[in-house]
Amino acid sequence: MSSLNQIRSTFLDYFAADGHEKVQSAPLVPQNDPTLLFVNAGMVPFKNVFTGQETRATKRATSSQKCVRAGGKHNDLDNVGYTARHHTFFEMLGNFSFGDYFKEHAIELAWNLVTKEFGIPADRLMATVYIDDDEAFDLWKKIAGLPESKIARIAGSDNFWSMGDTGPCGPCTEIFYDHGDHIWGGPPGTPEEDGDRWVEIWNLVFMQFDQQADGSRSLLPRPSIDTGAGLERVAAVLQGVHSNYETDLFRTLIAASEHETNTSAEGDRTPSHRVIADHLRSSSFLIADGVTPSNEGRGYVLRRIMRRAMRHAHLLGAADPLMHRLVPTLVQEMGEAYPELRRAQAFIEDTLKQEEIRFRTTLGRGMGLLEDASRDLGEGGVLSGQTAFTLYDTYGFPLDLTQDEARRRGFTVDTEGFDAAMNEQRSRSREHWTGSGQTASAGEWLALRDRLGPTVFTGYDSVEGSGEV
Ligand code: ATP
Ligand code: MG
Ligand code: MG
Ligand code: MG
Repeated sequence: MSSLNQIRSTFLDYFAADGHEKVQSAPLVPQNDPTLLFVNAGMVPFKNVFTGQETRATKRATSSQKCVRAGGKHNDLDNVGYTARHHTFFEMLGNFSFGDYFKEHAIELAWNLVTKEFGIPADRLMATVYIDDDEAFDLWKKIAGLPESKIARIAGSDNFWSMGDTGPCGPCTEIFYDHGDHIWGGPPGTPEEDGDRWVEIWNLVFMQFDQQADGSRSLLPRPSIDTGAGLERVAAVLQGVHSNYETDLFRTLIAASEHETNTSAEGDRTPSHRVIADHLRSSSFLIADGVTPSNEGRGYVLRRIMRRAMRHAHLLGAADPLMHRLVPTLVQEMGEAYPELRRAQAFIEDTLKQEEIRFRTTLGRGMGLLEDASRDLGEGGVLSGQTAFTLYDTYGFPLDLTQDEARRRGFTVDTEGFDAAMNEQRSRSREHWTGSGQTASAGEWLALRDRLGPTVFTGYDSVEGSGEV
């Protein structure tokens, strides 16, 4: 059985043997790219190479890129704990051609790796192409020998990839794996495609355009290739398990959280352990790359992820802060591939611990309030915006945390009411401040913010809307 660490090496070695330069993962915080919250795909560090603003010595590259999808255009925060295939943090394996090879060699390389090196049976696989991409359709027949029934033409955005509202983009072709008819779901292009039976493992993007802020697209200097395969999804296939959370790395992380909470990951406790394992990775990697919890921008996304995990620790009955105690296991599993994790270990542990101590002062009472407020709400009920606002303002519950807890209990949250309560609070505090005749110094302001917590936090608009900073 191949471990995640072995699969990563096999992938990179395979492309290195075909003239691709091995490139280290870039940090999660995009360098010089204010349009993007976090690196969300393997192509992001190469964005300027595709557009021609930057040149590289080599025309081919391969990498295993750290990605976080917890805000912005690609946001999987709400999928974690609910699907078998989504993480907030994952590794995207990729190969890139900067104006060198194009569709044919890209498909050849991918098919060969998947069926020969990895040995995945061809009859479990199918491909999608962009609706009018006859060239890709014919290549799948020619190279892979796929029958036409196993090549789906897809019209929507699923087969036209873009990293955000601007930047390089193009039509794509994707490889799907069939986990078997014991799992609900249908092949891509059918009404049941959102199920977890057919899982997308690899996306090959034919990079051809550069999208501008006004939505118009210009041609890239040269057609290029950008591919992305989720390491954790490939590992699930190769290890013969359905869920990413059953692969070797996640089993080890979940075993640690079972041990530390003295509970087993069974029945309705399973999602909690999975969320904890997932959020442990995203929080730790974000902290290692210099993000710290705060009330705005990237730091608030981190805080939201951390607090979600901490809520699940609470659900499991953890009596003491949990997350920092899981860091050694993560470092032991991933520290070799990502030395920054090992370097930052003490800082990661301390950051998680301080945040959990702080949140635990209000978490229990907040959960109590939620419990009381939901007592009379049945399936399909709506939690009042005022309650969600009190949870946010007094107990430090980010809105999405309350929504997630509501979803778990089968109801929703009145977000308009939440916004209204927030605006009312803002105008009240404006009235309060006008005419006081004083301006607070930065130090006083920070002290006040620390004391009041989220009450005076200013970053709401910048994070809750599009999620971009
Ligand atoms: P899905 O449709 O399953 O959400 P996607 O189409 O959003 O995936 P892409 O943007 O095409 O994904 O990214 C390329 C590859 O990265 C995917 O084929 C998948 O293997 C992997 N991937 C994407 N999102 C995640 C995630 N949240 N967790 C783990 N792997 C992911
Ligand atoms: Mg997705
Ligand atoms: Mg998809
Ligand atoms: Mg895709």
